[in-house]
Amino acid sequence: ELAISRLTVENAYGELAAKGFLEARRGSGAYVRHPYAPPARTAGRPTPFDDGAFPVDPFTTGASRLDGHADTPLPPEVINFAAGIGNPRIFPQEAFRKVMHSVLRRHADEAFHYGDYCGYYPLRDTLARILSLQGIPARPEQILITNGSQQALSLVSQTLLRPGDTVLVEEPTYAEALTLFALQGIRTVPIPCDADGLCTDALPALLAAHRPALIYTIPNFQNPTGRCLSEPRRRQLVALAAAAGVTLLEDDFVGDLRYEGAALPSLRSLATGGGVIYIGTFSKMLMPSIRIGYLVADAVLYPRLAQRKHLDSFTTSSLLQRSLDAFVTVGSYQRQLQRACRLYRRLRDVAAEALARHLPEGCRMELPAGGLFLWLQLPPDIPVSRLMPLAWQEKVTFARGACFYRDNPQAEFTLRLNFSANTPERTLAGIERLARAMALCRAQ
Ligand code: PMP
Repeated sequence: ELAISRLTVENAYGELAAKGFLEARRGSGAYVRHPYAPPARTAGRPTPFDDGAFPVDPFTTGASRLDGHADTPLPPEVINFAAGIGNPRIFPQEAFRKVMHSVLRRHADEAFHYGDYCGYYPLRDTLARILSLQGIPARPEQILITNGSQQALSLVSQTLLRPGDTVLVEEPTYAEALTLFALQGIRTVPIPCDADGLCTDALPALLAAHRPALIYTIPNFQNPTGRCLSEPRRRQLVALAAAAGVTLLEDDFVGDLRYEGAALPSLRSLATGGGVIYIGTFSKMLMPSIRIGYLVADAVLYPRLAQRKHLDSFTTSSLLQRSLDAFVTVGSYQRQLQRACRLYRRLRDVAAEALARHLPEGCRMELPAGGLFLWLQLPPDIPVSRLMPLAWQEKVTFARGACFYRDNPQAEFTLRLNFSANTPERTLAGIERLARAMALCRAQ
């Protein structure tokens, strides 16, 4: 007979609970947590959603939701369309191993230091050249390397905005930008959008009524809709923002993942008088764990943003910046981009054809020219809050539209599908499962 002390058992339970594997129910006992369940709320520790900023609590549906969970691996039997990243199967393991080895062999001393807090200069120089080729004027001295573009968003928000300020945002828009602004006490006011991006016609009235401190926009393959802001609207937006003296924050998180059509001019390239902060990242084009993003800012703002970056995280990993610079300069980045575009374009087509074939009547889908996401609009008898548990039952998941809205009843009839993250076979199977869940929802 094996004797284990009570203390050992208690310690083991404590450890499992701390890691989130167990949940205690008062008066009932300890339970193994459901693998898809959101983290338990800890009494007294408010979440960003407790302050009323988000009328829809994304943690209440019980099943999957997006933020913080969608990118963690789900059990293999679940087909995941919720993730916010590209396809892990093509992350460049071998090519990146080679450049890292070479950096460690030749520059380990420097690569192990903090390095320049504005970023490794040769990488800034490489980025300046890439951006200039795309018509985006940028000198290395205007580029600040950040820990992913999320840090760039956070630095801009902390540097330019004060509690009570207003930011105009597309509706719907990137969930973590909404939360970031809300946490800082910043009001977000939605700009209506259509298939050509944000409606510039609505801007003069919004600018006059709200006197915003910033306009945040994702002009290419927007998250979550996949839409692009049309060129005439880009020009109007830049002109209107300049006339009102409002800074534009241009988040170009997947701009290089274009599958057809010509690239559209960036807002920064159109704003000859300045006033646009441009943000980019390698998370979607390469891999998210590299945590390298960057911003391009004018001379007045740059030193303030750079100081914040220094105080926020000192630097971005020298080892990874040097490896990335080598990866780009030997041509591996271009090859990787081409590979990603070929695969994602095919997956987009597989998903779009399957959706056209299987979706029940009343659903609407727009075909994006690039990026990672397809946006679906659902008919009134298929609300997402009823669809989601049925989709889980069918072992498929997606991102609920409500994550991307601040407060809009339309959100209940929208969802985002990441078409890039699965094999063609699983993409097809996933859409069949989703269509089955929709049919069940409709029949209920
Ligand atoms: N902007 C948008 C629109 C995003 O979707 C994301 C991540 N999903 C980010 C910024 C931040 O990504 P990262 O920090 O990995 O660059």
